[in-house]
Amino acid sequence: MKLSLALEDAHQGPFLANDLVRASFEIRGPTFHKSPRISAKFVGTMAVSFPTQVNAASPGQITTVLFEQHKKIEYRDLQWDEDASSGESIYTTPIEFQFPDGACYCDRPQKCQLPPSLDIMEQNMRVKVSYTMTISVGRSVLGAMTKTKTVAMEIPFSCNPSTARLPRSSCVLSVPMNEKPGRYARLRDTIADQEHDDGSCPSYSPKYSPSIKVEVLLPQPAILIRGQPTPVQILVHTPTDMIESGNVYLRSVSMDLKTLVTTSTGAVPRTITQRRHGCSMAGAVKIDSELFELDSGAWGNFFVLNAKPTTESCILRMDHVVEVVTGISVGLGNDIRYAVAAFEVIVMDPPPAYEVGDAIQA
Ligand SMILES: [Zn+2]
Repeated sequence: MKLSLALEDAHQGPFLANDLVRASFEIRGPTFHKSPRISAKFVGTMAVSFPTQVNAASPGQITTVLFEQHKKIEYRDLQWDEDASSGESIYTTPIEFQFPDGACYCDRPQKCQLPPSLDIMEQNMRVKVSYTMTISVGRSVLGAMTKTKTVAMEIPFSCNPSTARLPRSSCVLSVPMNEKPGRYARLRDTIADQEHDDGSCPSYSPKYSPSIKVEVLLPQPAILIRGQPTPVQILVHTPTDMIESGNVYLRSVSMDLKTLVTTSTGAVPRTITQRRHGCSMAGAVKIDSELFELDSGAWGNFFVLNAKPTTESCILRMDHVVEVVTGISVGLGNDIRYAVAAFEVIVMDPPPAYEVGDAIQA
């Protein structure tokens, strides 16, 4: 007896909440003389495991069932056919499940969204979210004895991030020019004081120590679509006296995407961080005006390729942060001053291809 399970229509990309999953199920083999017992289930799970952890006090794996659906397939619903060449019986039936709207364990009136399918391993921890359709066939062999065979198929799932709270689309790095070179000025905490409420860069004020401000602007709102380029604008604000003395150079800008995955199923929430390189420039670009814009040809676009969409649920949350490091020097020597800043972005999947096709036909 050979079982096979396949998605019925050529589905483009992963499924979303409330999507119907249509599959076709097939049994090949000898003709049944007694009705087999056929059951189908559709289960979403999140497994958090610690493969290399030796601490015996903490369990090696915590598996959380996100949802579970069961269906019985009646023998009479199977379509029968015969393979002319082998004489085998072929039984087929369509089977359909539906992804739920959400699933969670909190008391919110509206259920939290289902996390996307993922398998992330980093820092001695692995988080795996999977959605699986399984069909089991039990057939009588001898008297009361049954033999069970199972076939399973993983169903890819993704989610649409909530855009109710949009992150701001700019950040300002302040590069102090009177500090020791080479050290990163960690400005994450003080950055808000140096910006206007709308996130824009304030004009230079002499009461602060001389500093050059590097403004990073993403399109409004700061939503990065996976696989699509996001243009990044870089503006450098330099005090007049520094421009007059000349020799100010932008030496490097680099942007990374940091993904923070936090699971809340164990005793304590755990977070793993993944870092992906986004874009960077290195060299020496002379800054010759108080407000200087880096030529996009020297710079380019920010690309997100493999990241999963921003997710917010009581079981798992995935946040994305763009971290920017910039270096400025006076003269072309090695005394480069750096500043680093991070800002939140939303990552989304591109819209499904069939929607684009529909829009063209309309
Ligand atoms: Zn919840």
